[in-house]
Amino acid sequence: MRGVSIIGATGSIGRQTLDIISNHSDKLRVVALTAGRDVKALTELVFQWRPKLVAFSDPKAAEECKGKFDCPVLSGIDGLTEIATHPEADIVVIAIPTAKALFPTLAALKEGKRVALATKEVLVSGGHLVTQQLKQSGELLPIDSEHSALFQCLQGEDVSRVDKLLLTASGGPFRTRPLDELKQVTVEEALAHPTWRMGTKVTIDSATLMNKGLEIIEARWLFGIQPDRIEVIIHPQSIVHSLVEFVDGSVKAQLSLPDMRLPIQYALLYPERHPCPIQRLDLTKVETLTFEPPDENRFPCLKLAKLAAQIGGTMPTAMNAADEIAVNAFLQRQIGFMDIPAIIEAVMERHRPTQQPDLNTVWEVDEWARNFASELVQKFVAKK
Ligand code: MG
Repeated sequence: MRGVSIIGATGSIGRQTLDIISNHSDKLRVVALTAGRDVKALTELVFQWRPKLVAFSDPKAAEECKGKFDCPVLSGIDGLTEIATHPEADIVVIAIPTAKALFPTLAALKEGKRVALATKEVLVSGGHLVTQQLKQSGELLPIDSEHSALFQCLQGEDVSRVDKLLLTASGGPFRTRPLDELKQVTVEEALAHPTWRMGTKVTIDSATLMNKGLEIIEARWLFGIQPDRIEVIIHPQSIVHSLVEFVDGSVKAQLSLPDMRLPIQYALLYPERHPCPIQRLDLTKVETLTFEPPDENRFPCLKLAKLAAQIGGTMPTAMNAADEIAVNAFLQRQIGFMDIPAIIEAVMERHRPTQQPDLNTVWEVDEWARNFASELVQKFVAKK
């Protein structure tokens, strides 16, 4: 029986993780849960799952719940870190859309736990720190569907025999939208993802293709492959989740219908495979699988992320923090869709990166980039 703590239990990945746990209640059990500030949602989960410990990111939400549950209620990043290091947790699912999840991730790895990672921002911002920690203790498994696909393709293989990784992208809702129309798109259009149902941050990142840029950096740290050997390929059907090309020219791919419960279950039960409650792939019904190169002129976020990956050091940290601020401003209808890459680019241009940064430097850069991006948002609002 493996105990599971979920950082971000009320989100899309958190709820699908609970679905997998209830399907495999003979192998998995809930230890601790966290939410951002949604008191009602977490209260329901507490009564259903009876965790040993809960936490809210928001201290006000935690205050509201003190004494209401049979278990202690913690708050803030310290609270999340205690959830991640709970002695009964064997696996910690990290599923909150912010680089701040680096703290609980490092703490869980330090305690020798398996981290099932959905938050790609953790590796984008602090990949070298996570990699250093993994040399000492802990185990990291991807929940991101593309990286789970790559991880599955690499089973039994020697990573030094990999020629390149091919990350597939659906292309998002604006795959065929002309550049001049992209300036005008609405929040609702950007949130209408054609193949995946996800949280708002990752859905907007999918529409700008920043998500794929973040995934290049995520893959680089997970598999130790240099970014120039990681390619992006648009595949609108989201059936082929990613591919590995080996030095002999052989290409392996992993396929399934798009359902996050499969990569979640793989990360929780690895190395075992068990029946999963997803709809099965019938290739005769799919009929066509298509592939095309991405257009970096219409989707400049992809180009920016590749540049950040190449520069390395704290540049991906700055880029990611700027993206978090810009996406939030777009969701609040403060800026337009194409202002997102403009803000990220301006932050990257201003940033002087440090190579091999320690945790403090990562946080200083993260905070600087958030502040500078927020200033830029205010300038865009004033211009509107
Ligand atoms: Mg993904």
